[in-house]
Amino acid sequence: MTLSPDGVPNIHDFARVVFFTGAGMSAESGVPTYRGKGGIWKEYDWESYACQEAFDAEPQRVWDFHNYRRGIVGKCAPNKGHELIAAAEKKLPHVVVVTQNIDGLHQLAGTKTVHELHGNLWKLRCSRCGARKMDRSAPLADVKCSCGEWWRPDIVWFGDALFPSVIDAVAEAMDDCDLLVSIGTSAVVYPAAQMPLIAKRAGATLVEINPEDTPMSEVFDVRLRGTATEMLTKMSWGL
Ligand code: NAD
Ligand code: ZN
Repeated sequence: MTLSPDGVPNIHDFARVVFFTGAGMSAESGVPTYRGKGGIWKEYDWESYACQEAFDAEPQRVWDFHNYRRGIVGKCAPNKGHELIAAAEKKLPHVVVVTQNIDGLHQLAGTKTVHELHGNLWKLRCSRCGARKMDRSAPLADVKCSCGEWWRPDIVWFGDALFPSVIDAVAEAMDDCDLLVSIGTSAVVYPAAQMPLIAKRAGATLVEINPEDTPMSEVFDVRLRGTATEMLTKMSWGL
């Protein structure tokens, strides 16, 4: 592995790369993080706006909250870090993005293979007839499905199980990579936080990008203390 003078590995030295991203990945796009510095979701009693029980009791209240999020996220564009990851996917033999983010910014930057562990703010599903659709209106223009049921954000809320097909795909990608780059996650939301351990067991090199230490930091071979755009730029020379 080639290291730059300041000890940063080059993404180009690896053939099978997984980028594992959290809210910090989108912070420089203006999407508020949940827990880190300036995390505005701290202002909300998250569990009463983002769980099935709240939606069943008061769907409009839960939609007010999600419309507020749609309003903020809809104005945000992918940052240089998202773009460097999309460029890496074009150039390297095998690149997979595993994200805890629901903002869709990796896809907007052009990345094709994105596994969304926690769903997507722009996707909707109907719990009655099973319909699904993509809708980027903010606030959501059409709140009910043609069957009469409320659309539900296709997001993994508190208390929901992750999608089994996504877990399988993520486990396979983690088991099959030679570089895992974790970016901007506080590593406290389970089971997502432990997924990099699969890559570790499979012998991959693990890099953590985060301005702060996390509960998982010691698992990583290289810890880069800085922002997503700054450190991905350093890891991408020659791209
Ligand atoms: P988190 O908010 O718990 O933690 C954010 C982490 O990013 C912190 O460790 C912080 O130090 C780091 N960080 C802050 N600025 C950064 C930067 N510029 N570059 C790199 N790192 C930076 O985020 P999480 O671990 O993803 O967990 C939050 C949960 O809430 C997720 O599961 C997600 O579903 C949801 N969420 C999503 C979004 C989004 O879609 N963008 C935003 C907020 C929360
Ligand atoms: Zn329906």
